[in-house]
Amino acid sequence: MSIQANLESVKKSFVNPDCALIAVSKTKPLEDLREAYAAGIRDFGENKVQEIQAKQPEMPADTHWHMIGHLQSNKIKYIAPFVHLIHGVDSFKLLKEIDKVGKKINRAIPVLLQMHIAMEESKFGFDRAELEEMLTSAEFTNLTHVKIEGLMGMATFTENQEQIRQEFRGLKQLFDELKSRNLPDFMKMTELSMGMSGDYQIAQEEGSTMVRIGSAIFGARNYSQG
Ligand SMILES: *Cc1c(COP(=O)(O)O)cnc(C)c1O
Repeated sequence: MSIQANLESVKKSFVNPDCALIAVSKTKPLEDLREAYAAGIRDFGENKVQEIQAKQPEMPADTHWHMIGHLQSNKIKYIAPFVHLIHGVDSFKLLKEIDKVGKKINRAIPVLLQMHIAMEESKFGFDRAELEEMLTSAEFTNLTHVKIEGLMGMATFTENQEQIRQEFRGLKQLFDELKSRNLPDFMKMTELSMGMSGDYQIAQEEGSTMVRIGSAIFGARNYSQG
């Protein structure tokens, strides 16, 4: 199937038609991104800074770049001026580094906090205790050049749909709980980034506001390239 046909079938299967779609184009060539763009996609997800840097100048200016992978501190500066949203902020240390870069270029950089919701140790993210520790620290309230827009999480890679659902549900509960708290001005709980090709319908049923979909749109990736 063509990318356009894949996009149509993905969108038709949305449980929540208002949920934002981020087309995850990592490892895919520019021609694939252009085809998705022509089909109306403006939001693209990549997990390597180098790849965003290479693709960004080649795509129209209204393309939104989402950094969905693990971000290293020393690479923040390469995407800081234009990145639309950094989904994978998984430590206070990284958040502070982003704030520092933001200050330098005078831009409040939009981010999501990545929570560790999966059984697998391999996945990145804050646990609840780390999050609380950060939120209650004086250093946190002194941040000036980040905009925390919500949370992101990845479910366990499993066939067990009920487990995936429970993990997403837990993240949504945390999201709602945070929303009801007195948060600093730079932190708003508006976006909940959860759901990929294999589990986006469950994620939408559990309250996702943005899904990150790659293979269901662009086809399988060559995994030697991540
Ligand atoms: C690769 C990736 C996706 C998309 O995965 P698919 O299963 O191809 O839809 C979503 N989120 C993150 C963080 C990823 O790294």
